[in-house]
Amino acid sequence: MSDKEITFNDEQLLHYSRQIMLPHFGVEAQQKLHDSHVVIIGVGGLGSPAAMYLTASGIGSLTLVDFDHVDNSNLQRQIVHNTSSIGDSKVSSARKTLQAINPEVDIHCVDKKLSADELATLITDCDCVIDATDNFNTRFMINKVCVQQRVPLVSAAAIQYQGQISVFDLRREDSPCYACLYPDTESEENTNCSDNGILAPVVGILGSMQALETIKLICDIGDSLQNRLMILDALSMQWRTMRLKKDQQCPVCSSSR
Ligand SMILES: [Zn+2]
Repeated sequence: MSDKEITFNDEQLLHYSRQIMLPHFGVEAQQKLHDSHVVIIGVGGLGSPAAMYLTASGIGSLTLVDFDHVDNSNLQRQIVHNTSSIGDSKVSSARKTLQAINPEVDIHCVDKKLSADELATLITDCDCVIDATDNFNTRFMINKVCVQQRVPLVSAAAIQYQGQISVFDLRREDSPCYACLYPDTESEENTNCSDNGILAPVVGILGSMQALETIKLICDIGDSLQNRLMILDALSMQWRTMRLKKDQQCPVCSSSR
């Protein structure tokens, strides 16, 4: 039993009853969710389901970071936005949808491209960062800041018919980081969905898994994707799992850096 005071009223207990009744979950895990702050970077195809599931599940507060505006071509997969939001900033469009799902969640919007220093300040007190961005340069920057701040990072990417996801629990000394997996080659290679295409449910699957892994991490239930990378080929519907190890020479996270 947690020593914390349980703060839910009857209506909230009913709202969250289907997860509170779960084995390993209970009011204690619900309280942990309620007390947590998650930062989602990128409110597009991955960030949409991640933000919607975390909001519906009763996360305490969410910070949404995105500098982009809603475009007609986003709506095929970025399901937190709708036709009435075309032209609006993605963060305010998302906030509108999320508040309708669960008005009790505190939603903060950051409508700009953040520098590494600004991101470091933003995530100082957060419990988890979800990387839902669509380019390597931003992913490397987010990873670096999460390593510095020792904040867990739930990272996913998707393109065409493929997706991948991993969890880097950077509170742990022995955790690999995103740069252990991919060298930061500053490649200009463009691998985003806007230019290469994406089948909508592929980002839906990966973004939903980011919400799931975030909830497990916050509530401390089950086995997380820590030290594992899961890769989806949606055309053949096959999952592969790769074991990840910390790279002792990693320029970002190794102790000798
Ligand atoms: Zn590393």
